[in-house]
Amino acid sequence: MTIRHPEKVNKPINPIKKKPDWIRSKIVDSKVFFQTKKVVNQNKLVTVCQEANCPNITECWSKKHATFMIMGDTCTRACAFCDVKTGIPNILDVYEPAKISNAVKTLNLKHVVITSVDRDDLEDGGSHHFYNVIIATRKKNPNTSIEVLTPDFLRKGDAYKKILEADFDVFNHNIETVPRLYTTVRPGARYFLSLELLKNAKKFKKNIFTKSGIMVGLGESKNEIIQVMDDLRSAKVDFLTIGQYLQPSIKHHPLSRYYHPDEFKELKTAAKTKGFLLVSSSPLTRSSYHADEDFRRLQDARNKKLECQPLQ
Ligand code: SF4
Repeated sequence: MTIRHPEKVNKPINPIKKKPDWIRSKIVDSKVFFQTKKVVNQNKLVTVCQEANCPNITECWSKKHATFMIMGDTCTRACAFCDVKTGIPNILDVYEPAKISNAVKTLNLKHVVITSVDRDDLEDGGSHHFYNVIIATRKKNPNTSIEVLTPDFLRKGDAYKKILEADFDVFNHNIETVPRLYTTVRPGARYFLSLELLKNAKKFKKNIFTKSGIMVGLGESKNEIIQVMDDLRSAKVDFLTIGQYLQPSIKHHPLSRYYHPDEFKELKTAAKTKGFLLVSSSPLTRSSYHADEDFRRLQDARNKKLECQPLQ
């Protein structure tokens, strides 16, 4: 049996805290869930919903909302919060652009989220492959809005710009946590580089929406969260998601505490005052949770904002 997280074998054991009542995944018994599963399996696709063991899978798949994870199921990073497998990935699947675009067509999706594992082993971090997947998806599904949730392309120079050449609607890159916790939570990444990526995405592609997300419950303080909000606004990020960190195993980063739903409401209010177009903040919020409805909300919010601007 291959070990899913070889890098965590020698990590200390962090017992998992009992979940409070408000962390309950919805049980949905629907035909659509199994249809989604069939399309994923038939096309041999990888989804972050399964790989990250997402608590929202029954609800999302029952609405045909799956987040496709490209470039394999194995990540070259070893973030302490993440349940995606770590190791040496396989070579890229040249048929993946066709597989993803076909799945989007079969599921008749209005909105699709495409993410990937980190591919530090590739010279361009996988940006050309990401570009090919977006292009194929757009071509076959011209009426589907496309959201990309990308890696940080650390040490890959301008490679991320290839993705920006493609036609899509939302650029998402998760900042995940506060800068103080990066060395333990996201040791392979750099806080200010992630911010820079978000800033540059907006700079080079002004008509897209930019989006980022953080998890709470990793040991951050509220003041630190507020600072991240300010940093993301300085990078002109439009949409912020805030969700509860759930510890995947005893070898993952310890959960410091569960935030109460009222605290998520308070964080939402604080973020709204910072000027984000949209904020989603709740215990089960994930960066791709309700992404389809949220995309329409983003469009409405931008239109409203433009209506309120004085004529030049
Ligand atoms: S929240 Fe995102 S990752 Fe989780 S099941 Fe829904 S689409 Fe998949």
